Amino acid sequence: MAKFALIGSGLAGGLLAAYLGRRGHEVDLYERRADPREGNIVGGRSINLAISTRGIHALEQIGIAKEALRHAIPMRGRMIHDRSGALHFTPYDVDPQKCINSIGRAALNTTVIQAAQRYPNVRVYFDHRCTGVDLDTPVAHLETANRTVTATADAVVGVDGAFSAVRKSMQGEIANFQYDESYLAHGYKELMIPPAPDGSWRMEKNALHIWPRKSFMMIALPNPDGSFTCTLFWEFEGPRSFATTKTDDDVRRFFEEEFPDAVSLMPTLLEDFRDNPTGSLVTIRCAPWFYRGKVCLVGDAAHAVVPFYGQGMNAAFEDCVVLDECLQKFPQNRESAFGEYFHRRKKLDHALEAALPGIYLPLYTMVTFTRIPYAKAAKRARVQDLLVYTSAIIIFAIFIAAIIWFMAR
Ligand SMILES: Cc1cc2nc3c(=O)[nH]c(=O)nc-3n(C[C@H](O)[C@H](O)[C@H](O)COP(=O)(O)OP(=O)(O)OC[C@H]3O[C@@H](n4cnc5c(N)ncnc54)[C@H](O)[C@@H]3O)c2cc1C
Repeated sequence: MAKFALIGSGLAGGLLAAYLGRRGHEVDLYERRADPREGNIVGGRSINLAISTRGIHALEQIGIAKEALRHAIPMRGRMIHDRSGALHFTPYDVDPQKCINSIGRAALNTTVIQAAQRYPNVRVYFDHRCTGVDLDTPVAHLETANRTVTATADAVVGVDGAFSAVRKSMQGEIANFQYDESYLAHGYKELMIPPAPDGSWRMEKNALHIWPRKSFMMIALPNPDGSFTCTLFWEFEGPRSFATTKTDDDVRRFFEEEFPDAVSLMPTLLEDFRDNPTGSLVTIRCAPWFYRGKVCLVGDAAHAVVPFYGQGMNAAFEDCVVLDECLQKFPQNRESAFGEYFHRRKKLDHALEAALPGIYLPLYTMVTFTRIPYAKAAKRARVQDLLVYTSAIIIFAIFIAAIIWFMAR
């Protein structure tokens, strides 16, 4: 059995520690933040997330799906709010059982860390920030409030999110390491719709609410306490943007014009808008995701994507399943295991991104409700598109021929 040092006990870090612990590996999990059970988990990230088939499958494989989904709220479709406040519901699938689930980030993070800690061979260290990794040894350098720590292991895994310190070390040390980051012109801000006085939900509970507008949108996901967490995706700069909306009056006017039915449900809108940070949305691509059998990247550290398909965490959880399978397949050769993990998962990078620009339901269904590899899903969607266009042309040709035949008679 090997010794792993995992950097980052976010969603994927906790889950991966559980997978490795189950196989009997020694695991030291280092997290820069405080223990999430003592609060301070979210730190500017989304409060709740949509978990779908890939993510649930990963939780099932380690036996914690029921526990994790206990308080999750099924969302059976999109509830579109137009400017007049009229509602239009579109189910996610013809099968009403197919839904995505709104789940709290903090609760899910706690569940995966606790699952890891059930294995006596897994140890978790909070308030340990990784400052860099020596790839060849490998060792991870960490800082606590009052000392520096050197973590030695057979392998170091960077599960430390989009701004990964482990990846940064790989960039510095691996010749020809490919790296690309791109930021959207849009940022996001979280706002709140509190529960009704009797504790119930003020809008349809089992739906993902969307206020689509031309170049921006707001969404809202339900929480178990009767509230909704809204996320406004809006341009950072421009004539109407985060940058130009400064005063309470600006904010109130913008919301009354664009989201009139939501404003009346948001008593803390002005405080939330003022106090909550404006986050940025980044896509990160890099290669390779491993260095020999010594260092490996998992989750956002390897492939951060924008959240519009609700796949970042789902893909990160799927990484854990695949890495576990690869380590099983090559128990004596970690380099081969890391290599196979990389090749199997890397394909998702381009495919998922290719899937993002359009909201095409069958593709959405494949991405969200199946475990078909992202690359295959994107390919199938292209074939489907081709079939649809070809059929449309044939039907049109038959229609024209029928008219000509009818007129000729
Ligand atoms: C607004 C928004 C909405 C989203 N909605 C969804 C959704 O609905 N569905 C979905 O699937 N995905 C969603 N995502 C994406 C999802 O949040 C990420 O893909 C997911 O959190 C990735 O998990 P991770 O464990 O790889 O990284 P993270 O969750 O970012 O965890 C990384 C961990 O590493 C720690 N860390 C970082 N640096 C260091 C260091 N130097 N030393 C030690 N520890 C460190 C961090 O503190 C953190 O705990 C959303 C993202 C955003 C921004």
